[in-house]
Amino acid sequence: MGELISFENNKWNIPDNPIIGFIEGDGVGVDITPVAKKVFDAAVEKAYKGKKKIEWEEIIVSKKAVKRGDELLPKDSLSRIKELGITIKGPLETPVGGGHRSLNVSLRQIFDLYQCVRPVRYFKGIPAPVKEPNKVDVVIFRENTEDVYAGIEYESQSPDAKDIITLIGAKGKEIKPDSGIGIKPISESGSKRIIKAAVDYAIQKNRKSVTLVHKGNIMKFTEGAFKAWGYEMIKQDYKDKVVFEEDLEDNPPKDKILINNRIADAMFQQLLLRPDEYDVIATMNLNGDYLSDAAAAQVGGLGIAPGANIGERLAIFEATHGTAPKYTGQDKVNPSSLILSGVLMLEFMNWKEAADLITQALEKTIQNKTVTYDLERQMQNAKLLKCSEFGDEIIKNM
Ligand code: NAP
Repeated sequence: MGELISFENNKWNIPDNPIIGFIEGDGVGVDITPVAKKVFDAAVEKAYKGKKKIEWEEIIVSKKAVKRGDELLPKDSLSRIKELGITIKGPLETPVGGGHRSLNVSLRQIFDLYQCVRPVRYFKGIPAPVKEPNKVDVVIFRENTEDVYAGIEYESQSPDAKDIITLIGAKGKEIKPDSGIGIKPISESGSKRIIKAAVDYAIQKNRKSVTLVHKGNIMKFTEGAFKAWGYEMIKQDYKDKVVFEEDLEDNPPKDKILINNRIADAMFQQLLLRPDEYDVIATMNLNGDYLSDAAAAQVGGLGIAPGANIGERLAIFEATHGTAPKYTGQDKVNPSSLILSGVLMLEFMNWKEAADLITQALEKTIQNKTVTYDLERQMQNAKLLKCSEFGDEIIKNM
């Protein structure tokens, strides 16, 4: 019998037999989710010899829910996600052009999952476009609820757009009358909480620096304020644990986290030219969106990149790719994105031994060139495996 995970005094309490939710996902969710769960169970068993075990509970949403006559996000599923605290999910379909809005975005908004956490590192053997992909090892904390994600836009020529143009005109600023309008809110509370999450993570995981990425030279009261609020909060809450780049005369002391900031365009360039100087990155939604994918592409890992959406007392770990519908049920696609999201989840639970077993075994499996079609087609002399065979190979390599 599993036990519920609890959250008290700002701390997660993870029992040895926690009930963890899983959302199978649409499309290739049927292929990757059972494989990933098998890998997690094998790692936990190997690491803890029966002392710890995950009790999985399926949460029904999306197409599976509709099939049983329910709505896309049934109320009982949502309340169970909340109760369980930690859930891992496969991809969910969003029909293009109309239909319902993205369930992924809905889940983030319903549960105020303000941290989008995307670790990016190189796995030896994966074909990468840069010369030294092994130098990339960053964790990007992207704000998940504000900025362009707040989604406030008015169509060109619409009455609302015209009203806003008139209002801004009355304040002495001119906007071309045929403009569409997009609003980019960045709040002090929203900025401070994502930056705090990044600094806490850096301290907990012994990382060496936190870089705030912004375009504050142009957008002073949104992106510039993000940096200013971040620095203010860090100075107040982490004074003894950090050192600011601006105050440094020499190398940063080893026992302190280096805090610095970079203008977004310079950051893209730096991540390509001197990736080993960056570690944990905190940024707003749109910068984070671009930066996560650019960093993942740099190490050849777009298809296997993991992700997590984390709120105050709720975390959803997820494959970052979509449902790849043409491959549904073919036991073909690469389950690594979901498996590595599970590694993030195990690290979040402080089950580090199990997490490390999976990472090392995945690394070995890729180095041995025993891989799924997406990697096999880019490697020479690789052995093509099915999705399930790839999972079994990881387990064998633990
Ligand atoms: P996609 O499902 O990610 O698939 C695009 C292509 O990426 C696939 O055809 C395949 O490329 C490759 N790919 C994706 N997952 C893979 C895997 N596990 N292993 C190997 N290759 C993989 O993107 P999409 O076709 O744009 O989106 C399909 C649906 O997914 C949409 O409804 C979209 O809204 C949804 N979606 C959901 C999420 C989420 O739940 N987080 C994220 C993105 C999209 P090749 O054919 O070249 O091999």
